[in-house]
Amino acid sequence: MDAETRQFVRRRARDVCEYCRIPQAATPLIPFHIEHIVARQHGGEDDPRQLALACDRCNAYKGPNLTSIDPDSGEIVLLFNPRLDEWGNHFMFRGGEIVGVTATGRATVRLLRMNDLRRVELREMWLKAGGRFS
Ligand SMILES: [Zn+2]
Repeated sequence: MDAETRQFVRRRARDVCEYCRIPQAATPLIPFHIEHIVARQHGGEDDPRQLALACDRCNAYKGPNLTSIDPDSGEIVLLFNPRLDEWGNHFMFRGGEIVGVTATGRATVRLLRMNDLRRVELREMWLKAGGRFS
């Protein structure tokens, strides 16, 4: 992947994780990743339309997954896709926590462990310091 593509993806995301919305500025020592929404092993390409900016936690927990289980219904559902889905239709903030409001949102929150204690604490610290989530 060339430097231009990386820069484009980072700029498009305004330096915010496209899954959990933590800004890069909140974790300046841990560079975000350019993530293949559809992993290479499933045929994903370096096309910006198939790439997203992801913090290291979201990127690690998502891995090559495209689906997971909705904890409410037990159904297999698609994960949130930052290129196709609107974040605000699937998630909301409750303080430092992220609540999935659809089957896709719930499955993504759980698989990506968005509400692990340290991640919630980081979001709360960010809010306390006057930061916002866009
Ligand atoms: Zn994230």
